[in-house]
Amino acid sequence: MKLVSFAFFSEGAPRPGILLDDAILDLTPLGASDAAGAIAVGPAALRQALDVPNPSLIAREGIRILAPIPNPPRIFCVGLNYRDHAIESKMELPKVPTVFLKLPSAVIGPSEAVRIPALTHQPDYEVELAIVIGTAGRNIAKENWLDHVFGYTILNDVSARDIQLATSQWTLGKSLDTFCPIGPAIVTTDEIADPHSLDIRLSIDGELLQHSNTRELIFKAPDLISYISSIVALEPGDIISTGTPAGVGLGRNPQRWLRPGETMTAEIEHIGQLINPVAAADH
Ligand code: MG
Repeated sequence: MKLVSFAFFSEGAPRPGILLDDAILDLTPLGASDAAGAIAVGPAALRQALDVPNPSLIAREGIRILAPIPNPPRIFCVGLNYRDHAIESKMELPKVPTVFLKLPSAVIGPSEAVRIPALTHQPDYEVELAIVIGTAGRNIAKENWLDHVFGYTILNDVSARDIQLATSQWTLGKSLDTFCPIGPAIVTTDEIADPHSLDIRLSIDGELLQHSNTRELIFKAPDLISYISSIVALEPGDIISTGTPAGVGLGRNPQRWLRPGETMTAEIEHIGQLINPVAAADH
């Protein structure tokens, strides 16, 4: 099952829905007013929505797909979580997960433009597998991690390297407006047999720049959920973005930065493609 948020072109309010082949099942008649509400209802109840007679099906033509959670409670990001990316970043392999936050105000959806303001000269891309929490928990044991996951999506951890690396604190350089594309859908856990065996790639205008597999993650989903929840309780709708593999612009020779007019395609096996153009911001 693929959970999305969508809006009618005629009115902007986000609604949750289930993405079907050629239509979307609107979940608002079931009492889920937004993505957080749909996640709280849980995948089993949502699946039953597919079986009701005369479901509220909406054609794809009249709507646009938004970020699946337009305003997530928290976005936990994990840095340096692929061995080859830590090496290309000239950073030591971490002994504990390197966790920073990306502000929810940076979130955009599929097809929306990442807008580069004049203050950064080093905008960069990072394709990542993102875990979406479904059930709250504190001190979650590693063996129980899956009980707390609603599903998986793609997150492009767009980064202004000059701002990010000016200090030891990465949050602002990772949180410029529009620097957090998410989507296109949250794929529920029953459709992903093993999240640690997924092909992951990012290309720009057809040129493949990142290509790895989530089996290369240093800290895997059980480690991350156990670690973060040992410090702060996790909430439904929280996102844990697991980190990016090698091939980012920072690590290339010569270094390569995002340019207005380019189009990024982030792709993860069994989840889909997250496509975002790059544009100049008006500030
Ligand atoms: Mg990242």
